[in-house]
Amino acid sequence: MKVRPYKTWVEVSKSALLHNALVLKSAAGRKTLLMSVIKSNAYGHGISETVRALAKGPTDWFGVDSLREAELIREAGTHKPVLVLGYTPFSDALRAVRQGFSLTVYNRENVAEISEVATAKRPAKIHLKLETGTSRQGLLAKDLPSFLIFLKKHKNVILEGVSTHYANIEDTTDSAYALGQLERFLTMLSTVKRAGFNPSVVHTACSAATLLFPETHFSMVRAGIAQYGLWPSKETRVSAKQKGKTAALIPALSWKTVIAQVKSLPAGAHVSYGLTERLARESKVAVVPVGYWDGFDRKLSSVGHVLVRGKRAKVLGRVCMNMFVIDVTDIAGVRVEDEVVLIGTQGKDAISAEDLASAVGTINYEIVTRINPLIPRVLVP
Ligand SMILES: *Cc1c(COP(=O)(O)O)cnc(C)c1O
Repeated sequence: MKVRPYKTWVEVSKSALLHNALVLKSAAGRKTLLMSVIKSNAYGHGISETVRALAKGPTDWFGVDSLREAELIREAGTHKPVLVLGYTPFSDALRAVRQGFSLTVYNRENVAEISEVATAKRPAKIHLKLETGTSRQGLLAKDLPSFLIFLKKHKNVILEGVSTHYANIEDTTDSAYALGQLERFLTMLSTVKRAGFNPSVVHTACSAATLLFPETHFSMVRAGIAQYGLWPSKETRVSAKQKGKTAALIPALSWKTVIAQVKSLPAGAHVSYGLTERLARESKVAVVPVGYWDGFDRKLSSVGHVLVRGKRAKVLGRVCMNMFVIDVTDIAGVRVEDEVVLIGTQGKDAISAEDLASAVGTINYEIVTRINPLIPRVLVP
């Protein structure tokens, strides 16, 4: 019997990650820096594995949500610059500045706090995030002139970058709202420059903007989902096709597990919690030792599928915390320790993150980022 490496594990293809990075770098252009966004455990792919795979590729910067993720990048052994995209609380400021991470800022309060912990020898590098219409993190246009005067008084805080983020650039084939945001960004950027600042890294583009809108690229693009070989949305894929951009992305992640038990049950047997599923025929069922705690969504109860011996097997009844049951009546020869594919390819069939997302009413981003970080990630060629 073939021994599998773990009860459940995630395989991450190094060549797929590097391929996607090159696709994004070529979309961005030679003069534009590429930031690989690796927040949320590298969209479920594993921060340290992903950083190790990408470090020798075209990635110029890494982007994270938090200080802890930034530290994990250093622990993975790369010295490439890191920008914290999310909020850095006062409690993290000292550690973040000491380690030389660049920080996203949009508040006077945070400038003052960062200035307290910065020194002339170890100045703090900030990227000012501008509010252009996403109404999330960002400084409003009306507050910009006085903010810039305030910033000038804090000599140890260097304005390294200026950024914004689009609200719906991946949700629609209509780019009007995003282009309005771009226009507001340009106006605010010129205010920053007229005040005497010369930020070296100007950035607005996520994956969808990187692939579709060169006018959003500026000096750096921030690519997340496409880096992992997943499209930001159906609309992005359609628009890319319409624009004649046939960038081929290769999904890098497969999620696997093994069969824990196989047994025959009579017609009429109830399966799993809540008695929500009752067998209509005499059936062969198998136990899969993964559940919603692992990131296999409970909404996949009675509707999800997995691959066993190259065939689709349906989830029977409720997905539990650490296991669920599948119907293998029509799949010959299923045995304990057979490989089960939850996401990925097996034989001629495949289950994508998008398949799971549409089954539970969410987006591929949520499917991959919620695969439990404690599950081992294995880099494969
Ligand atoms: C997560 C994130 C990105 C990456 O977005 P994708 O759609 O995954 O490419 C870019 N910029 C910011 C500010 C982010 O938070």
